[in-house]
Amino acid sequence: MVKTLKALGLRLMISLDGLGEVHDRQRVYASGRGSAVDVLEAIELALSHNLIPDVSITVSGRTARDLPEVIRWVMERDLPFGLNFYRENEFSATQTDLQLEEESILAGMRAVFAMIEADLPKRSLLNALVDRANLSFAHLRTCGVGQDYLVFDPQGGVAKCQMEIGKPVATVRVDDPLALIRADSSGIQNLSVEEKEGCRTCTWRYWCAGGCPLATYRATGHYDVKSPLCNIYRAIFPEVLRLEGLRLLRYAEITV
Ligand code: SF4
Repeated sequence: MVKTLKALGLRLMISLDGLGEVHDRQRVYASGRGSAVDVLEAIELALSHNLIPDVSITVSGRTARDLPEVIRWVMERDLPFGLNFYRENEFSATQTDLQLEEESILAGMRAVFAMIEADLPKRSLLNALVDRANLSFAHLRTCGVGQDYLVFDPQGGVAKCQMEIGKPVATVRVDDPLALIRADSSGIQNLSVEEKEGCRTCTWRYWCAGGCPLATYRATGHYDVKSPLCNIYRAIFPEVLRLEGLRLLRYAEITV
């Protein structure tokens, strides 16, 4: 598979949420067996063929306190990575649980910021640490869902988002699957941040764009409201910008 990926010029993303038992807390096979060993083996295999994987790290209340360990691991190997935050939605947890989860994610993130500040990387982490936000350019939508994004299933079905791969709205056999994706009004609706209640006057709106529309819908039943992760975003965006500033100053001094 690695050889085929390389031959086709495809990029590879692998989920690694923690090292060993930490990853296994939320990534198990149907049998209940943890997948951490297999994931690390897959990363090593890709690297041994010079295929550099992007590491996707999903942070939840269950893994947040161990976040610095996995970030150190990927940074020591100079692997590109990105964080995604996962919270139980408001229909499946009490408000107290959600607040505790938010606090543990923020505590984990603060520990990561301190670790990164102590040993600033040459690689920019401006977009690696901010979930679906992108702090490098102003934009109106969090992602390309419903606009310019296609997800293919093994049978040739085409869905709007990988999170809804079981609900294809087109197939590879039609002339213009993207036109059907754009016209679909039943699945995920990817609204402009300017249409989201709570976001319209936010300082961060053109960088955050209001978060993942599907996560917001699952948590609130609406597409036109701010992300359920908003408190986390507002707390970490200034910290991430500060780290990027420190990083630029550090390496600018060396090259001047
Ligand atoms: S209000 Fe919250 S979700 Fe909306 S743009 Fe600002 S930080 Fe993002």
